[in-house]
Amino acid sequence: MTYENLQLLIDGEWRAGSEGVSEPVLNPATEEVIGQVPHASTADLDAALAASGTGFAIWRRTPPAERQKVMEAAARLLEERFERIARNLTMEMGKPVGEARQELEFAINILRWYAEEGKRAYGRQIPARIPGVRQIAFKEPVGPALAFVAWNFPAVNVMRKVAGALGAGCSLIIKPSEETPATAVAIGRALTDAGLPAGVLNIVFGVPAEVSEHLLASPIPRKLSFTGSVAVGKHLQKLAAATLKHCTMELGGHAPVMVFDDADISKAARIAAGGKFRNAGQVCISPTRFLVQDSAYDTFTEVFLEEVAKIEVGNGLEDGVTMGPLVASRRLEVMDRLVQDAVDQGATLMAGGARIGNQGSFYAPTVLGEVPATAAIMNDEPFGPLAPISRFSTLNDAVEEANRLPFGLSAYAFTSNRKTSVALTNDVASGLLAINSLLVSSPETPFGGVLDSGYGSEGGIEGLDAFLQTRFVTETDF
Ligand code: NAD
Repeated sequence: MTYENLQLLIDGEWRAGSEGVSEPVLNPATEEVIGQVPHASTADLDAALAASGTGFAIWRRTPPAERQKVMEAAARLLEERFERIARNLTMEMGKPVGEARQELEFAINILRWYAEEGKRAYGRQIPARIPGVRQIAFKEPVGPALAFVAWNFPAVNVMRKVAGALGAGCSLIIKPSEETPATAVAIGRALTDAGLPAGVLNIVFGVPAEVSEHLLASPIPRKLSFTGSVAVGKHLQKLAAATLKHCTMELGGHAPVMVFDDADISKAARIAAGGKFRNAGQVCISPTRFLVQDSAYDTFTEVFLEEVAKIEVGNGLEDGVTMGPLVASRRLEVMDRLVQDAVDQGATLMAGGARIGNQGSFYAPTVLGEVPATAAIMNDEPFGPLAPISRFSTLNDAVEEANRLPFGLSAYAFTSNRKTSVALTNDVASGLLAINSLLVSSPETPFGGVLDSGYGSEGGIEGLDAFLQTRFVTETDF
C-alpha cells in the first residue's frame, strides 16, 4: 500500500522544504518508518504568510456559492479517495480502520456543511433613532488565519479549521501534527485538485514551537485557531497577543461521567465502556472520571469489565481489531505512571495496567476501581485507555466532583430523573453536556469548552462565526 507523498503546500505548489530538512513518520503499530515529513524553513514560512495574504484577497471576494462549488468538488474527491486515505490515517495514527472511516466521513460532512453555511453569513439592518439614517451591521471574513492541531483526529481536527475558514472566506495556514501528516496532505490535495485558488490553503510542518513563534509574530494572520493541550494553548495565546489576533482555543478535558442509580445501569456501563476505549481513549472529550452512585457501583463495574474483556487490541488494519496502539511509544510511560500512582493511593487494578508485547505502542484497556480524587489520574488528562471508577452518594457530591477540576470541555450523565438532568444542565461547568449518551459532536452543533478547556466553538454556525468579524456602517440622507 502506498502512503501519501508528504509535501508542503505553499502558494498553490506542492513541494519539499527549501532546506531539505525532514523527519520520519512512524506507524505506531509496527514502529516502521512509513514516510518523511518535510520541514518548512523560515523562508518557506514567509512564503506561506505572503501567500495567505494574496489568497485572502482572492477568496474573500469569491462569492460563497462559488466557494461552495470548490468545497463540494473536494468533498467528492475525498469520497473517491476514501479507502486509501482512511488506511493511511490508521497507519500513521493507529486507530482501527473502521474508526478511521467514520472519522473521514465525519470530516467530509463538516466540509459540506460549511460549504453550504458560508452562504448564510448574514448581517442585519438596525432601525435608527434618527430619521434618514440607515444602519447596517454585516459580517466579513476576519482575515488570513492560522491553525495548529493535534494528532488524535488527523482528519476532523484539520477539517474543522479548514472548512470553517474556507466557508467564511478566510485563507489559512495550517500546521497539522508531524505525527499524522498524510491525512492533512490528502485533504489539501483534494482541495487544490478541486480548483482552490493558490494561497488560500497553505500546509506547513516543522518544529512546532519554532513554526508557531514565527507565524504568530507576523501581522498578516488575524486569527489563531488551536486544538491541543491547555499548556500549549496558553503559550500560543500569549504569542498571539502581540499582534492582537482573534483566538479559538480547543484544549484538553477530563470528562466526568455521572451514573445515577435511577438509570439503566447496564446500558450506561456498555455505552461508557464503548466510548472510553474509542481511539484508545485519545480523545479530548473521552469519558474519563467514572462517578457511580453507591448502589449502582457493583453492577456498573461488572458490566463495564465484561465489555472491556471483549476489546481486541492490535494493528488497526487487521480485521476484528477494536482498539489500536497509542499514537507513540512516549505515551506508554505516561500510562504506567498514572496506573502505578492510582494503585499506590489505594485504587484496585481490575483490568489491564500494562503494555502489550514489546513492539508497537499497545497498552491494555485498563480499569481501576475505588480511585481516590487525589490520584494523578483523577486530575491530569490521561489521554489513553484508562478508566478510573469512583463512587458518589448524592447529586451534590457528583456535581462537586464534576466541577472540581479547572477543565470544562465535556461532561456526561446517565439518569432517568428529569430533576437531576435539569440540575446538571444548570450546575455542571462544561462546554458540552450529554445526558444518557456520549453524543456531543456533529457538524451542525457547537463544539468547545469553558474554563481551562478553552473558548470559542467549532461546529455549527458558531464555527463559521469564529472566522468572521462584524462591522457596522451608517448612511445618512444628505
Ligand atoms: P500538544 O498541545 O502538545 O500538541 C497539540 C498539537 O500542537 C500538536 O500537533 C503539536 O505538534 C502542536 N504543538 C505543540 N507545541 C506547539 C507549539 N509551541 N506551537 C505550535 N504547535 C504546537 O497536545 P498533545 O498532547 O499532542 O495532544 C493532546 C491534547 O490535545 C490533549 O490535551 C487533548 O485534550 C487536546 N485536544 C483537544 C481537542 C479539542 O477540540 N478540545 C481535540 C483534540 C485534542
